[in-house]
Amino acid sequence: MSADIEHVKCLIIGSGPAGYTAAIYASRADLKPVMYTGLLAGGQLTQTTDVENYPGYPHGIMGPEMMENFRQQAERLGTDIRFGYVSSVDFSSLPHKVVVDERKTITADTVIISTGASAKWLGLDSEQKYSGFGVSACATCDGFFFKGEEVAIVGAGDTAAEEATYLAKLCKKVTMIVRRNEFRASKAMMHRVLNTPNIEILYNTETKEIMGDGQSVTGVTVINNVTNEETTIPVAGFFVAIGHHPNTEIFKGWIHMDETGYIKTTPGSTTTNIEGVFCCGDAQDHIYRQAVTAAGSGCMAAIDAERYLAAKEHVVTA
Ligand code: NDP
Repeated sequence: MSADIEHVKCLIIGSGPAGYTAAIYASRADLKPVMYTGLLAGGQLTQTTDVENYPGYPHGIMGPEMMENFRQQAERLGTDIRFGYVSSVDFSSLPHKVVVDERKTITADTVIISTGASAKWLGLDSEQKYSGFGVSACATCDGFFFKGEEVAIVGAGDTAAEEATYLAKLCKKVTMIVRRNEFRASKAMMHRVLNTPNIEILYNTETKEIMGDGQSVTGVTVINNVTNEETTIPVAGFFVAIGHHPNTEIFKGWIHMDETGYIKTTPGSTTTNIEGVFCCGDAQDHIYRQAVTAAGSGCMAAIDAERYLAAKEHVVTA
């Protein structure tokens, strides 16, 4: 085989909680996994601060530190972790072919996709500046830090509606910033929002700037896109819930996906429509999107890969 082509038993693409957990299990099952981390090694959690809802950390842990722990555990158990991004794949025949950094080709008996998803952001400088310091794209993860305080959330889809009602249980008041004069969310979710007394909805309203004192968020300036009236609302937290996009572009045309790009897996497993290709974590989950659910599905993917290889070996040797 040429120096630029390498064969592996199990290739893991992506390095969030799903990928690292798959790596831990695959290593222990002697699949000798090779992982390519992607450009954001450690995934979305490296962009958060405190994580308090991951079991096993009684005092919470910082997201980047937690992912470093995941990495060390996977490495200690034998995963070959490499920095690099997968630029294209060819799943037309076995073994699968994967190109890394547009130059190196890997052939793999099994591929575990754990490329995750990325939150959509408004694109404001102030949003970036206070990300992790009052600005968050996950109410379930960070809502707790704003207990008893006033917060704002932007978005009008099912996620925004669900997160606004979640926040309303913890926070004194939730201001929902909706850019049109109506919701996109389902009627049922919308009714829950409308029936929650401490949620105020600002329709036809867009976010102009997130205000802060250099350390944390203190308010948000919004503008009514009909009247052009500007208002600054004092808030301690600002939640962005305008959707996520799964990082699955490179698999388009090969793997079955839903209309928004989430990879379809067989319910109750991580198998995809392609033999020997498994998918776990946020790349296939637009509902739960938690580190712990991603980790759980990473474990499933490694077990599925191991059983797939064992079954193949059995057929060959039988
Ligand atoms: P959606 O794409 O459905 O909604 C995004 C929302 O954000 C829209 O209201 C959109 O406004 C708004 N938005 C987008 N860009 C901006 C911007 N720049 N400024 C202000 N607002 C913006 O994403 P969701 O994450 O809500 O949902 C994704 C999918 O997941 C959906 O299919 C949803 O049904 C599903 N889901 C289901 C749940 C459940 O069943 N429990 C829970 C959560 C999600 P506009 O309407 O004007 O375009």
